[in-house]
Amino acid sequence: MIRILANDGIDPTGKALLEQAGYVVDTETVPQDKLIEALQQYDAITVRSATKVRQDVIDACPNLRLIGRGGVGMDNIDVEYARSKGVAVVNTPAASSLSVAELVFAHLFTGVRFLQDANRKMPAEGATAFNKLKKAYAPGIELKGKTLGVIGFGRIGREAATIALRLGMKVLAYDLHPFAVNIKLDFQGDISVDIPVETVTFDDVIQHSDFITLHTPFAAQPILGAAEFAKMKHGVGIVNCSRGGTIDEAALIEALEAGQVGFAGLDVFDNEPTPQAAILQHPKISLTPHIGASTNEAQERIGTELANLIIEHFSK
Ligand code: NAD
Repeated sequence: MIRILANDGIDPTGKALLEQAGYVVDTETVPQDKLIEALQQYDAITVRSATKVRQDVIDACPNLRLIGRGGVGMDNIDVEYARSKGVAVVNTPAASSLSVAELVFAHLFTGVRFLQDANRKMPAEGATAFNKLKKAYAPGIELKGKTLGVIGFGRIGREAATIALRLGMKVLAYDLHPFAVNIKLDFQGDISVDIPVETVTFDDVIQHSDFITLHTPFAAQPILGAAEFAKMKHGVGIVNCSRGGTIDEAALIEALEAGQVGFAGLDVFDNEPTPQAAILQHPKISLTPHIGASTNEAQERIGTELANLIIEHFSK
């Protein structure tokens, strides 16, 4: 009997698939310091980002045959070490791409119509302030016709570009690896249009975009800092739903104060889960607590894909 510890939870659809295959799935979270002891009884563990499966755990749990990551980033798993010890490591990199890309547009629509500020101020300020705020938020802008700069043109970057093109935006995209692709836009199932998108330079993206969205992996050095903000269009909107560390937060605050950056939408932060107050309280920043993949649809896809990968592995 295969026993699986889903230590950071698993969508009910994925759990049901595993149980139908005859596996035992436990979903009660074991704290990190009790993990080694608990894992003696399991063949596999599934995690999201919270539980860490490092070398010490892998060495101390000889029965462990598979580590499953629901989602993309595997920073919390010693992947190469696990594989060198014959422990399989699987993840579900594409399952949440659309949800993350949609969150980018939640932040963009928020920024261009001042929702982040309106939602903070309207409850507190009462009737007399209503007209003052109405005036303050009058210079909103539309996304249609504007240019979205996409840095990192992988799974999520491409989904974000697809949504932008559907909205009638232009796209300037840069990736470390040059590309030329056709983005297929399907309308109502029976009309489809191919839009060619090819790589431009990093400088083209930062100088000519009205909004810039980051979709790169974790970077040891920020990709956007003071020098990059200075080269951008005045009032540019910045969105980061990738990883904390990819934007220099201090430089972002300075650029927001100076008006060089018009607004920012952030799902990821330097100090998760306790981002700095200057970021949390800034009236020009729209905030979400790392919820890019947190939709019912993405969670169901993640659970189902993970269950199928686990079943495939143990059926070999
Ligand atoms: P991906 O691997 O498909 O794409 C990343 C792309 O970035 C690749 O094409 C790579 O060549 C490119 N790249 C790497 N370094 C670069 C650089 N310095 N400049 C330009 N391009 C660079 O990854 P993905 O699935 O699209 O995920 C992108 C990011 O989103 C990852 O950091 C991932 O951890 C993050 N993510 C966040 C959430 C969330 O909840 N906010 C959810 C899922 C993924």
